[in-house]
Amino acid sequence: MPDKTLVCKDCRSEFVFTEGEQAFYKEKGFENEPQRCPDCRRARKAQRNQGGGGGGYGARW
Ligand SMILES: [Zn+2]
Repeated sequence: MPDKTLVCKDCRSEFVFTEGEQAFYKEKGFENEPQRCPDCRRARKAQRNQGGGGGGYGARW
């Protein structure tokens, strides 16, 4: 699986969905590719400040 370049939904910048991350997602059973770059993901996470969820990417709600 080669690295993939995706476009962030929030800031529209390109980011790389690496081979390692793809494997991680697969392992976790995530079917969707990440919609946001790591920066935006972190920002959102900090914003909702939930903690304790085990690092989910919030696709369920
Ligand atoms: Zn972004």
